[in-house]
Amino acid sequence: MMSTIALIVAAGRGTRALSGSTGPAFDDTTPKQYRRLAGQSVLSRSMHPFTDHPQIDRIIVVIHPDDGEEYAKHTLKHPKVGDPVMGGATRAESVLNGLRAAAALSPERILIHDAARPFIGKDVISRVLDALNTHPAAVPTLLAVDAMRRVGNGGILADTVERDGIRRAQTPQGFRFTTLLPIMEAAASSGTLPSLSDEAQAIITAGQSVASVEGDPMNFKVTIPEDFTMAERLLAQPDIRTGQGYDVHAFGDGDHVVLCGIKIPHDRGLSGHSDADVGLHTITDALLGAVAEGDIGRHFPPSDPQWKGMDSAVFLERAVEIVSERGYAISNIDLTLICEEPKVTPHAPAMIARVAELCGLDPSRVSIKATTSEQLGFTGRREGIAATAVATVIGKA
Ligand code: MG
Repeated sequence: MMSTIALIVAAGRGTRALSGSTGPAFDDTTPKQYRRLAGQSVLSRSMHPFTDHPQIDRIIVVIHPDDGEEYAKHTLKHPKVGDPVMGGATRAESVLNGLRAAAALSPERILIHDAARPFIGKDVISRVLDALNTHPAAVPTLLAVDAMRRVGNGGILADTVERDGIRRAQTPQGFRFTTLLPIMEAAASSGTLPSLSDEAQAIITAGQSVASVEGDPMNFKVTIPEDFTMAERLLAQPDIRTGQGYDVHAFGDGDHVVLCGIKIPHDRGLSGHSDADVGLHTITDALLGAVAEGDIGRHFPPSDPQWKGMDSAVFLERAVEIVSERGYAISNIDLTLICEEPKVTPHAPAMIARVAELCGLDPSRVSIKATTSEQLGFTGRREGIAATAVATVIGKA
């Protein structure tokens, strides 16, 4: 197998990220590659796909001489990662320093990657490596989908830039090592190093071909503060909360019970202040619990005569509103009714449809199950119906 080194260039100061002209300034002066994204530095995130890639043998990071302490404290440690190499005054010099350090390991291939591209995927790395089987160099590129316009003085649009054949270059740029190093050394000797836009440019200037492979829109460069906002959003964990509910109603006089809004004929009714719908009460409590908003009794006190004989749908609808007001959407509800009688299962589809309607959910997100308690306890003695429910809600962010 060919030996391959990944060179991560992290020697820049990231001034555009520190003082973006269109967005809020950052509150500290940490270079962007050491800023945290969901707890991990941009640099560490940019390194990880290379440490994880089976065809990458070694990783060399080029850092700014002032950043040694920051690097040592907060950067990914991995057996593939060697000691950092100090960068130079320009990006090209930093790359050359890295190449010289890599030369000691005599690699066959080298990938050069911006430390500010933390969402590089293993697929792009593989495509660049594959292209090096047939070309001395390869660059991942993306179709420029937006119209390209030149903007003139005073922010006035000038001419349209012809988009045909225009692609946006990303990193890692890949090279056969024995092709790149002499070309970069020659550029350094002749003083043309600072004028190179990147290493691929050096290859082209030397008359060799650079293959274009498909890049990845996710592999964007974190440059201005807005990019950090986007990166944070991509990494944000959903705010998922769970609530549980439990309720019991005793049997009393009557010729039907109401369970989850469905009237079920029975030789007894359920007693309670409202319509005694133990199913809807339990779901209401689970939803209120998920957003830590107390229980059904706090919102609808049994002492209040206005709730007498009330359709319990009113309670559930209010709980659904409260969940929404708190910034959450209901994900799913799972209710278990516990009784020896009446038989619940034949009515479950209608109950599910009613609960789904009240909660604004697809019926596939509502589960209603029934069980007996094997004739044990108060439900087993047919003294009443108990219910338990779990509801999951997701922050709408
Ligand atoms: Mg109740």
